[in-house]
Amino acid sequence: MKRVAILGSSGSIGVTTLRVIKQYPREFKLEALAVNKNIESLKRQAAEFKPGKIAVGDEETGKKIKKIGARDIHYGIEGLNRIASDKDVDIVVIGLSGSVALHPLLSAIRAGKHIALANKEALVMAGSIIMAELKKSKARLIPVDSEQSAIFQCLEGKEQDELKRLYLTASGGALYDVALKDFKYLKKKDILNHPRWKMGQKITVDSATLMNKGLEVIEAGWLFDVEVRNIEVLIHRQAIIHSMVEFVDASVLAQLGVTDMSLPIQYALTYPRRLSNPKNHLNFFSIESLTFDKVDNKKFPCLDFAYRAARDAGTAPAVMNAVNEEAVSAFLDQRIGFTLIPDIIEKIMSKHKTLKNPNLPAILEADTWARRQARELITRLDS
Ligand code: MG
Repeated sequence: MKRVAILGSSGSIGVTTLRVIKQYPREFKLEALAVNKNIESLKRQAAEFKPGKIAVGDEETGKKIKKIGARDIHYGIEGLNRIASDKDVDIVVIGLSGSVALHPLLSAIRAGKHIALANKEALVMAGSIIMAELKKSKARLIPVDSEQSAIFQCLEGKEQDELKRLYLTASGGALYDVALKDFKYLKKKDILNHPRWKMGQKITVDSATLMNKGLEVIEAGWLFDVEVRNIEVLIHRQAIIHSMVEFVDASVLAQLGVTDMSLPIQYALTYPRRLSNPKNHLNFFSIESLTFDKVDNKKFPCLDFAYRAARDAGTAPAVMNAVNEEAVSAFLDQRIGFTLIPDIIEKIMSKHKTLKNPNLPAILEADTWARRQARELITRLDS
């Protein structure tokens, strides 16, 4: 029986992970939960799964849940770190959105956990630091994101020097069929209506700009030790092939499955085993075709920003990520229009003087600088 902690249990990844845990009661037990402020979800989940430990965003929120019956209640980022490194936890699922995942991920690595990672911002910000910590630890980092999980599965048992190229597939997001000239009319509800995947708000906006794919390119570079010029993005509308690997002998392996996050989540929990799954089987006769297109860089400049940031390396990806988080949040608060998201990212990326081989404090400093720049620019645009 593996004891699981879920960071971000009220989010889309968290909720799906709980469904997987429920499906395999002899394999998994929920030991700890963390949410930011979503008390209603927390109460429901705690009543059903009875975790011993809970973390919430702040003490104020903590007061509201005193009666839930958990042995320990922790707060803030320290609370996330405690749960991520708890001695009673075997598997840590990181379903947090954004850079807040960085410190708990490092805590889980240092504590040698089996980590199911759904967050991409942490690796984008501080990939070199995270991979170096991982080398020193007995922790295992298993990707949950469908594309990274696909590549991870295709690479099992292969040697690094056999790998030639990665193909990351992209379903195209909400705007694939919308003309660039109409982007300026897009409202929040148009963007949050993703055709294939049901996800949290931040990642759904990132899917619309294709920044999500850009973050995945950088993330894949770290996870699989591949230079980004050997990572190609394909628009694959059906989202049946979750990604592919080309080997040096020109053979290509793909991983396929229905569009349901419970599959990669289950695999990240059970790795290296596979458990029987009664539902979710792919019916090949219901697939009309599998298509592949090039990304339109004019419509989706954010993907190029990510390649540029990865090539610049150092603090550049952290800056890009921080500005993106601020711009997306301003868009979700309806302070800026959709088309300003890439404009803001480009402006601040060009202003940044990249520091090579930064340590963690330098990365966090670049993150803070970028957020301040972004907020100032957004306030100017907003007034
Ligand atoms: Mg993905």
